[in-house]
Amino acid sequence: MIFSCYEQGGKVLACGNGGSAMEAQHLVAELVGKFERDRASLPALALHQNPAALTAVANDYSYSDAFAHQVEALGATGDVLVAISTSGSSENVVRAVLAAKEKGMLTVGYLGGEGGGGRLGSLVDVPVVLQASDTATVQAGHLVLTHTICGLVEEALFPNKAVFLDRDGTLIVNRHYGYNPEDIAFLDGVVEGLLELRNARYRLVLVSNQSGVARGYFDEQAVARMHDRLQRMLDQHGAALDGLEHCPHHPEGIVSPYDAECACRKPAPGMLRRAAGKHGINLSASWMVGDIEADVEAGHRAGVRTVLVGPEESRTPPDFRAPDFAAAVRHILGTEILKDSSKTTASIGL
Ligand SMILES: [Zn+2]
Repeated sequence: MIFSCYEQGGKVLACGNGGSAMEAQHLVAELVGKFERDRASLPALALHQNPAALTAVANDYSYSDAFAHQVEALGATGDVLVAISTSGSSENVVRAVLAAKEKGMLTVGYLGGEGGGGRLGSLVDVPVVLQASDTATVQAGHLVLTHTICGLVEEALFPNKAVFLDRDGTLIVNRHYGYNPEDIAFLDGVVEGLLELRNARYRLVLVSNQSGVARGYFDEQAVARMHDRLQRMLDQHGAALDGLEHCPHHPEGIVSPYDAECACRKPAPGMLRRAAGKHGINLSASWMVGDIEADVEAGHRAGVRTVLVGPEESRTPPDFRAPDFAAAVRHILGTEILKDSSKTTASIGL
């Protein structure tokens, strides 16, 4: 349920009291940050996290309504509410579930006790009841549940590995602010290397700084024409890219709205993170290949391993230095074999 909620652009809300409030916050932290893999962030909120809203509603109405009002404010159809109660009957959690049903949300219960999970056991869509007589054991079970859910959601939503690729000087001959599609010339070993990476099930994603747009040297249509031809040339060899991201910005540019700071210009990791969201990419299993320090730093900041091709220096050390693209590919594929032999699984069985 949480997996399809996220696939459809929804979010997770979570609530509970005391230790269960902390478990709600724990779940949210793993979803927003990361559990075991670097990947795009997942939207989630714990309903006790806003003390002003919580105390306002508790003071003006009643504590029993404190979560329900926030569900009414923040919840939307298709979102999931994770309701946590060791007794299964906390009044404010029960009212939150009723409010969630009213909004067309789906509900999961982290519950406890020796019965069927109290009042919430029959109210929520999916009750998970930890059958134990003491609160501490139930709460320990809830912790395992959080890790299990996060592991499974990450595996399901971010199954793909990728190689992020710089363009100029890495894939094709670097022309100064080049934008003529006719000038595209692949560097030695690039087409063969891309094909090998594809065959090893890596998604191939171009991530290219194109500040020439902000500087007024060429426009977005020129970038699109260049990338169209690049794709067609690669496609002839069965090595087409899965994604092409570019950053048209530069803070010292002269063309609005590109003349601004942004989160995507390498060494910022924005293009990698954006593509990771679009293509379901597990960044921890992925690589960045580029020929300058900005590529290495962007990869490092996104949580992928990095290969620096060619002679440039880099203050952020790359995971590997390759003399050429073919050597970069050999390293990625070689490491892949080593990694597989010591593989650990992300999921925890209950
Ligand atoms: Zn940008």
